Amino acid sequence: MTPSVTSDTAERPETSKRRGFGVPGGAWIVLGVVGLLSFAAVATSVVLHRHAAERHAVLESLGQLETRATGQANVVWRGLTLRMAGEQLSFVSLRGEELRGRTEIAKEFKNLLDLQERGVQVNQWLGVDTDPEVMETLREGTGSFLGAVHGAMGMMAMQPERVRLRLGQWDMRFGALMAAIDAVRDGATASAQASSEAAGQVTAVAAGGTLLVAGLFVFKLGRMRARRERDRRAFEAVLSHQAGHDPLTDLPNRRGFKQSFDTVSAMSVATGDHQASGKPAVLFLDLDGFKLVNDTYGHKTGDQLLINTAVRIASCLADGDLLARQGGDEFLVLTQRDSAALAASMIAALAPPFTLEGNEVFLSASVGVLDDVEGLDAEQAVQRADIAMYAAKKAGRARAVVFSEDMMDGAPERLALEADFRRGLERDEFSVVYQPKVGLRSGVTESLEALVRWNHPTRGMVGPDLFIPFAEETGLISELGRVVLEQACHEAVRWQDRGVVIAVNLSPVQFRNPNLINEVRGALSESGLRPEHLELEITESAVMGDVSETVAVINELKALGVRLAIDDFGTGYSNLAHLKHFNVDVLKIDQAFVRGGNGQLDTPDHLCDGAIVEAVIGMARAFDMHVVAEGVETICHADELRGMGADVGQGYFFSRPVDGAGIDAFLAAEAEADRDADDADDVAA
Ligand code: C2E
Ligand code: MG
Ligand code: MG
Repeated sequence: MTPSVTSDTAERPETSKRRGFGVPGGAWIVLGVVGLLSFAAVATSVVLHRHAAERHAVLESLGQLETRATGQANVVWRGLTLRMAGEQLSFVSLRGEELRGRTEIAKEFKNLLDLQERGVQVNQWLGVDTDPEVMETLREGTGSFLGAVHGAMGMMAMQPERVRLRLGQWDMRFGALMAAIDAVRDGATASAQASSEAAGQVTAVAAGGTLLVAGLFVFKLGRMRARRERDRRAFEAVLSHQAGHDPLTDLPNRRGFKQSFDTVSAMSVATGDHQASGKPAVLFLDLDGFKLVNDTYGHKTGDQLLINTAVRIASCLADGDLLARQGGDEFLVLTQRDSAALAASMIAALAPPFTLEGNEVFLSASVGVLDDVEGLDAEQAVQRADIAMYAAKKAGRARAVVFSEDMMDGAPERLALEADFRRGLERDEFSVVYQPKVGLRSGVTESLEALVRWNHPTRGMVGPDLFIPFAEETGLISELGRVVLEQACHEAVRWQDRGVVIAVNLSPVQFRNPNLINEVRGALSESGLRPEHLELEITESAVMGDVSETVAVINELKALGVRLAIDDFGTGYSNLAHLKHFNVDVLKIDQAFVRGGNGQLDTPDHLCDGAIVEAVIGMARAFDMHVVAEGVETICHADELRGMGADVGQGYFFSRPVDGAGIDAFLAAEAEADRDADDADDVAA
């Protein structure tokens, strides 16, 4: 169960913190760095492997060099040996061999130097000595060696002693050359080995890095998948929360209420022990006059007011109570405590005014209480509590009424009608017609009474007698009255310059509404109707309550500059003495005295109750009020009323209520007749 608005809010699943994958987190940076390092390691290892291979090529070159040098030596030795043996040797062939040898050696040497040069840098990096002296020896040795061979070849044709001498010298250089080759071979071998080792290490690093990257990636992927799973679950939690909660107040909605109701009633049945935890009870709370506030201040403020209201209601709850929002300005409470005490505390909690845009706004609540939910499902329980709530509204609002079975009579139709009515308001099914009130002496229309009609989608045009009492009972009259007032003022602007006044009916509920003054002021300023062209008709029953309160409201309205009329006078058995306290302009004699009422079949030509009409006219005169007679159906009625001193007549004799266009036509015809009459007067004169 959810004891309060606030605690429930805290349980709301978090949706706002979902992180996208676009922003690199710390782990991604590490992954990137390690990846780069691994790549660098792989690249380095490739370079090192190549270097090692080149060092091996150096070694091979050295081998070649050695072979060639030895070969050259052999050529020379062979020549000398043959010569000394007294055999004739072809100089040309020796020379050719020697030249080929030299070219090969030069090529090999160049190759060696090239490799050596490229290797120097890597050698430095690896810390392997590339001894330039050795290289120099190699170069010199090779050069000398070649020179020596050359010399020997030249000398072969000369004295063998000198050749031997030369070779003796050459021998020495040959030895040096071999030593140099060995030195270079050592360096190259070391370098190749170092390269191979380093390459091995770097490869190990690269492999490690790659493994790390792969591991990290797999880890990351796992985390991503886990987070996606978490997000999905959070999202599902949000969805299921939303399904059971009202988005405005975050209170459980009907569905949430039904779930709790089912659980609690099942537990209550299972234990069979109603005493220990208390019997479950359902309270249906509907705010009185909320719609008016909503329409006056706008939906945003209305929403805020609903939230504030929910907080106040929640403050009355204890552990185990559930507060839900049924919809609109209706709340449900499920409790196992003393329901009457809870209802009383909720009504009391709403009593202090709310502050809306700097204004103090008073709200009350009507509460229906259902104490026995046994055998009922949630829907049936809520319906019964709702019916009790209507009974509370009917009894005067701001109170709690406990459900009893006899309330069920006719209740379903009433609920259907209310649903229809609310929909009708939303869909602008209500319109206004106007009935002229005509001066009995002048024959000129002085004012128009605005009368509401409901253009019902299936029942057709419905008259106010059928829905006004219901609208008053449910409080929906405030909304309806505002619609009529605004529409009437809006349309009447085009008649005000003819001096025609628009009369709008106010129901007793509207008359007691603290926001009435604001509403009237708003309707005037929005339409541009001058206040003296607006008349408000208040029924006799409305003004006969608390006299001082009535006087205060009347004075406030008068201060706006509007006219006031007392409607249906004579039917409310009012204390006539009070009339003198009320600063009203018009007294409307009820049609029951003029044309007669229901079932009263009087002679249609005469006033139904002339004596009363005369008495009322006399009293109105005494209080300096204008007198309007309703229900004027015949010329006799009009004549008699005029004879008795009534000022204005309203009834089918002049016109039935018609729409705005009908009034335009009516006024035009009247003006035409007026002109004709003037012309006739002129002619007569
Ligand atoms: P009401 O204010 O006394 O309005 C006069 C009613 O008498 C109107 O009925 C009108 O059509 C009817 N009527 C006028 N002349 C004659 C006549 O010569 N013969 C007969 N038989 N009837 C005549 P309607 O329009 O059905 O309204 C009935 C009542 O509903 C009104 O009585 C008024 O109390 C209430 N009403 C109408 N519109 C509104 C409204 O916008 N707000 C409120 N609060 N009440 C309204
Ligand atoms: Mg009226
Ligand atoms: Mg009337």
